[in-house]
Amino acid sequence: MTNDPVPELLARATQALTAEFASLPAFEPATESAASLDDMARILAETAHHLGDNYPYFHPLYAGQMLKPPHPIARAAYALAMAINPNNHARDGGRASSEMEIEAVAQLARMFGWTDTYLGHLTSSGTLANLEALWIAGQLAPGRRIVGSEQAHYTHQRISAVLKLNYRSIPADTRGRMRLDALEDELRKGDVGTVVVTLGTTAIGAVDPLDQILTLRQRYDFRIHVDAAYGGYFCLIPDELDEPARSAYAAISQADSIVVDPHKHGLQPYGCGCILFRDPAVGRFYKHDSPYTYFTSKELHLGEISLECSRAGAAAVALWATHRLLPPEPGGTFARSLACGRAAALDLDCRLRGDARFQPLDAGLPELDIVVWKLNAATPERASELAQKVFVSCAAHDVHLALVQLPHSWFSPARTSTQSNGSVTCLRSVLMKPEHQAWLPVIWEKLSSACTHVLEA
Ligand SMILES: *Cc1c(COP(=O)(O)O)cnc(C)c1O
Repeated sequence: MTNDPVPELLARATQALTAEFASLPAFEPATESAASLDDMARILAETAHHLGDNYPYFHPLYAGQMLKPPHPIARAAYALAMAINPNNHARDGGRASSEMEIEAVAQLARMFGWTDTYLGHLTSSGTLANLEALWIAGQLAPGRRIVGSEQAHYTHQRISAVLKLNYRSIPADTRGRMRLDALEDELRKGDVGTVVVTLGTTAIGAVDPLDQILTLRQRYDFRIHVDAAYGGYFCLIPDELDEPARSAYAAISQADSIVVDPHKHGLQPYGCGCILFRDPAVGRFYKHDSPYTYFTSKELHLGEISLECSRAGAAAVALWATHRLLPPEPGGTFARSLACGRAAALDLDCRLRGDARFQPLDAGLPELDIVVWKLNAATPERASELAQKVFVSCAAHDVHLALVQLPHSWFSPARTSTQSNGSVTCLRSVLMKPEHQAWLPVIWEKLSSACTHVLEA
């Protein structure tokens, strides 16, 4: 947070924005809403103290959950927009920011190979975006089931329950990917309406075999929803991915709907998900009148194609500004920053494989930038206990990792002394900041000494 450019950027842009409204008569804020600078500063100092009670998500030594600060341009643009506080529900409330949303969403659609005919908008989260996708799925095929891998985000099962759609989990293989044979068993039953395909699972960044699932459509009739909330942006760096993930990403434009979260890998503040539909005709299901808001413009109001009503125009402004600086295109600076995290993940994986204290997943993993491994121990219970201790000891060494429960059977039986159908607690690291590449040797050294500390105790 040293050399934070945001205060300076925001000060300059605020002057420019003030100038936009300079022709209006000046006014004094009402005494009821006025507050002294000193009072506000005191409360903000208190706020900063509270916020100090967080893991340092911005620092390269934070390598735990899917967390990182937004890009400075996104923070500055978001804060600037809040001076206006536009609402992208309707043009009345967010004229400029609705245009900016349409442009920013077009860039996301283009990233997936969709240029002219698609329908899409931002949402407040990946959950809401997935809800809209499954809602449309249910509208198009009432009574037919939704299926997704057991490693799909838990939100799909819960959303299906909310929408009163029947949901079924499909077993995953030992690399966390949906098993095609198990999927076909379900498809044979003839009542599957939609298959949720995850490109980048939340636990380990596994990539479901989208290309092969598509070939099943020659025999069975179903819709494909791609949940790429975490992994969507990796389609920008196909050369950095290995098979079979590369082929899965190459097929993404054939999906019926796609979810991506700019607030995960897209450098945005929270409050920025996105849903895209290949067929714009699904817009008919959203059709409704608003007695309050849709008069001032004949142009599309984003509220007409969204389940949420009020939405932060600032989120669209931040994404638009970020795309101006860092277009989400192959070969660009943004793509290179994704590749750095991917390189860091491969580096960590390689070090883990060379160290007998650790047991990584199958060769061929990680598929993206998430690395998961267990501690080598006589029993899964002991391995879980050690993972907990290493996690705590790492934090004491200023390295912040995460923990995840995985099926014990995923770890290669040759190196696993007891067979078990249960789960084992593993260490997990999401290496999503470009700085992770240069910092990996430091992370490794600290992990290694944390581990020595635990094993010697
Ligand atoms: C994070 C995530 C979600 C949920 O998105 P939110 O933005 O947290 O609501 C859904 N699916 C996948 C694969 C995710 O990684």
